[in-house]
Amino acid sequence: MLPTFDPRDTEAGLRILEDITSNAGHIQEQVLEEILTKNASTDYLKGFLDGHSDKGLFKNKVPVVDYEDIKIYIDRIALDGEPSRILTNESITELLKSSGTSGGKQKWIPKTAEEGERRAYFSCLLATVQNRYLQGLNDGKVLLFVLINPDIHTPGGLVLRTTSESEIKNRKDRYPQFILCEDTDQSLYSQLLCGLVQRDAIASVGTYFASGLLRVIKFFEEHWQEMSSNIRTGQMSDWITDPNCKRAVSLILNKQMPELADSIDIVCHEKSWEGIIKKIWPRTKYVLAIITGSMAQYIPALEFYTGGLPVVSPVYGSSEAFFGINMKPLCSPYDVSYTFIPNMAYYEFLPIDNHQDPNCTNRKDAHLKDHIVDLANVKIGQHYELLVTTFTGLYRYRMGDILLVTGFHNSTPQFKFIQRTNVVLSIHTDKTTEQDLQKAVAIAMQILEPLGFFLLDYSSYADTSSIPGHYVLFWELQLRSNDDIPELDQVKMEKCCSLVEQSLDQKYKMLRNQSISTIGPLEIRVVKQGTFNVLMDFYVSQGTSLNQYKTPKNIKSEKAIEILDSRVVGKFYSREVPNQDS
Ligand code: AMP
Repeated sequence: MLPTFDPRDTEAGLRILEDITSNAGHIQEQVLEEILTKNASTDYLKGFLDGHSDKGLFKNKVPVVDYEDIKIYIDRIALDGEPSRILTNESITELLKSSGTSGGKQKWIPKTAEEGERRAYFSCLLATVQNRYLQGLNDGKVLLFVLINPDIHTPGGLVLRTTSESEIKNRKDRYPQFILCEDTDQSLYSQLLCGLVQRDAIASVGTYFASGLLRVIKFFEEHWQEMSSNIRTGQMSDWITDPNCKRAVSLILNKQMPELADSIDIVCHEKSWEGIIKKIWPRTKYVLAIITGSMAQYIPALEFYTGGLPVVSPVYGSSEAFFGINMKPLCSPYDVSYTFIPNMAYYEFLPIDNHQDPNCTNRKDAHLKDHIVDLANVKIGQHYELLVTTFTGLYRYRMGDILLVTGFHNSTPQFKFIQRTNVVLSIHTDKTTEQDLQKAVAIAMQILEPLGFFLLDYSSYADTSSIPGHYVLFWELQLRSNDDIPELDQVKMEKCCSLVEQSLDQKYKMLRNQSISTIGPLEIRVVKQGTFNVLMDFYVSQGTSLNQYKTPKNIKSEKAIEILDSRVVGKFYSREVPNQDS
C-alpha cells in the first residue's frame, strides 16, 4: 500500500519521501512479498516456485532474464490474446513500446491500471521535490513539448503505446492543455505558436529527453517567420488542419498582435541563437529535460541555446518501471544522481567488477544469481547493472542500464546513470562502450570549440567493408554564430580523429599498434546540417516515439547509414597511431 498524501501539500509529500527513503530495505522486502503473494499463481512464477510465494525461494530459483527470454510470454498475451495471468494477476491493459536499447529495437512491456496508479504516485512525489526546490516554477506556465503517435492494437487486442503517450492519454484530465495531435509538424507548430503567444507567462520549458528540445529549436528556426506572421495577423496558417491544434490555438490566437510579432522578430533575427530560449521566454527559470546518460552529449548544445538557465534532469524511469527522482534538481547536469523510490518495484543489482568490460554481465551465467545484491546493500563507488521485479510481470529482468552508486539519501541509495550495457563499437576483440566514446568525442571537440563550433549530434558504426575494419564517427557540427559551416581545416580535423583514438582504452590502442594493424585509422565523417533530424525522422517512421527518441550510437541499419553517408560533406582520418603509454 502506498502512503497517501494530498498532492498539493508539498510538506506532506516531503515527509513521505523522508519516511520511505529512511526505510528502503524494509519497504523493498514488503514490495517483494506483495508481488510474490499477488503473482505466485502466474504461469511464469509457478514454473520456478511451484505456487509458493517465499522470498528466499524467489532469490534461489527465479532466473535473471532479459527481454528475449520472456518475449515468448509477452507474445502469447500480445499476439495470441492469452490472459494476463501468464505473467501477472493484475490485468494488463496496455503494452508500452520501449526503445530499450539505444539501437532503437523495440520491446513491448506490460502495463496495468494499478501500475498507472503507482506511476501517478511517483509523479506526485516528483512534483513535491520540484515545488520545494524550483522556486517560482508555479508562478507561470510549463511549456512542455509532447508528441504522440496513433494508437496501435496488437492482434491480441491490446493497445500499444509509449510510456509518455500512456501517461498523457490515460490522464487527460491532468493535462487539459496538452495539444494531442498525431501529425508531428502540425503538433510542434501549434505548441510553439501557443508558447509564443503566451511568451510572458512561461516559467519553464521542457521535453522528456534533451535531444527532443534541440529538435524543437531546429523546428522553430525553420518556422519562426511564419509563426510571427500568424501572430501579426491573428490567423493561423491554413496547413494546420488538425482539429485539436486548431481548437487550442484559436483559444489564444484570436486577434492581431503586431507588437508581439515585432518583439519575436527582433529576437529571432539575431544571427546567433545563443540563449534563444531565455530571450524568447524571458520569464523562464528552468529547462526541464533528461540530460544524463546518452543525453549528456547534448549538454554543450543545450547550454548554448538556454543562455545559462538551469537544466533540470528530473527522473530516471522507463517503460518497465519508474525508478528514481533527482532530489537536487538544481545541481550541475554532470552531477545528477537519482534517489530510488523504494515502493515502486523490487530492485536488485548485479555488480560490474571491471567497468571497462560491460560484456562481463552480458553472459548467460548460471552463477549470476550468486552475485546479486539488493537495494539496501549496494556500495558507494560500485557500478551495477539494474534488475527489476515488477507487479506487472517482470521478474529479475535486466534493464540493460549501468548505474554507479554515488551516495545515500537517508537509507536509500542514489545512482548516477552511466550507460547502457551494450557495446557501441566492436572490431576484433575491441569493445568500445557508449561512455568511452562519449568521453573521447568530448575531448576531441576541444580542438574545435575555440573556433566557435559545438557538436549538435553524433553517431558511429564499425566499418568492416575493408580490411582492417575501422570505426567511423558521423558528426553534425554547428557554429555558435549560426553561420554556415566553412570548409573544415584538414589538419585540425585529423587531430580530432587522433584525439578520439588517443582517448579510447588500451585495448583499442594495442590493436591499432600491432605490426599488422587489426583496426584501421579512425574516421570522422562530417555531415551537413539537419542530417540528424532526417535520421530521427527515419527512426520515427519505423515506430520509434519522438518523445523517447535517443540517437542510436551504434548504427546497424543499412538505410540509416545510407541517410548519413549521403549527407557527408567531409571525411577525415587519423594520421597518428595512438600512443599506448598514455
Ligand atoms: P524507454 O523505455 O523507451 O522509456 O527507455 C528507457 C531507457 O531510457 C532506460 O532504460 C534508460 O536507458 C534511458 N533513460 C531513462 N531515464 C534516463 C535518465 N534519467 N538518464 C539516462 N538515461 C535514461
